[in-house]
Amino acid sequence: MADTVLVSGGSGYIAGFLIRQLVADGWMVHTTVRSLAKEAVVRQLLAVDNSRVRFFAADLNADDGWAQAMAGCNAVAHVASPLPTGIPKDANELIVPARDGALRALRAAKAAGVTRFVMTSSVAAISYGRGRGVHTFTEADWTDLSKPGLSPYVQSKTVAERAARDWVASLGGDMEYCSICPSVVLGPVWSKDYSASVVIVKKLLNGSMGACPDFGFGVVDVRDVADLHVRALTAPRMGGERFIASGRFITLREVADILRAQLGPQANKVTTRNIPDWVVRVAALFNPLAKAVVGELGSVRNQDASHAKAVLGWATRPVEQSIVDTARCLIDLGIVKP
Ligand code: NAP
Repeated sequence: MADTVLVSGGSGYIAGFLIRQLVADGWMVHTTVRSLAKEAVVRQLLAVDNSRVRFFAADLNADDGWAQAMAGCNAVAHVASPLPTGIPKDANELIVPARDGALRALRAAKAAGVTRFVMTSSVAAISYGRGRGVHTFTEADWTDLSKPGLSPYVQSKTVAERAARDWVASLGGDMEYCSICPSVVLGPVWSKDYSASVVIVKKLLNGSMGACPDFGFGVVDVRDVADLHVRALTAPRMGGERFIASGRFITLREVADILRAQLGPQANKVTTRNIPDWVVRVAALFNPLAKAVVGELGSVRNQDASHAKAVLGWATRPVEQSIVDTARCLIDLGIVKP
């Protein structure tokens, strides 16, 4: 009998690529969606052998459905967590489902006899609250939750991964837990219901980002993130492991320049202007998105992914390819009209 894995949040960007790879590798997949009303459309987008994927309704905010979804599974990829495009006023809108949802999935996994639990965390749980400057982060680093100004998303990912690790340490028994911490995930887009990370490329392409602040991030391809999850689901001795999933650090200016260089006239609306830091600081007084980047201005946050490469033989595509593939898909899907 094939191994069966539960992938939570089957409607999501990363989960879609992960489910496809798992099915291609011979797994049976259970997946959760908040409502089974989404099943038909997600099945159509996945375009895999329908008999190899079963859908279950389960919300991160409620106990219903998790036990049924886990039944018969020997592994879990807990991917679901809120990733909004905007910034909620109340951080608990993200923290509560991220943390309590992970704990619900863990409790149900243990009760079902799952032996491997891989959780999609984020570099948001690693590299914030450290101040400006040039940093290189590893899996040993944790975002400092005592620092002011952390975004609700950063708080949610840090709190959720901490809570999951604490739960496993005290109640997990023989279940092996490990986390994957991606940076900004780009690459092909499979649906018009795209992830918030892709919005950066969308805003550059459609010209709604009129100038680039001096701000950057690590980039990783969604196909490589899916591949790292599969490796973590199958490699021996993963208990307690943590893997950064990131390619190199890149500034927004460089992303814009890559789009202009690679896409020709399709990138005509991509800005050539930069925003001085002082303008971002003033905008941060009333604009939540500017406020979210103001602490990052001029900083370099390298995410060292050598652990995943050494332990799991993981490799990444060049970030340039992921950026261009994102842009081409957004244009092909009609999400951006160049
Ligand atoms: P996404 O496309 O927005 O997927 C998020 C998934 O979580 C969706 O399936 C969503 O379901 C589900 N979800 C959200 N709130 C839920 C709730 N209350 N109950 C049940 N399901 C809920 O984003 P993604 O990029 O694939 O992100 C997947 C994971 O990767 C998240 O844990 C995210 O934090 C992490 N991550 C993403 C990035 C990135 O740059 N994209 C980077 C680092 C880590 P609906 O479709 O119903 O909303």
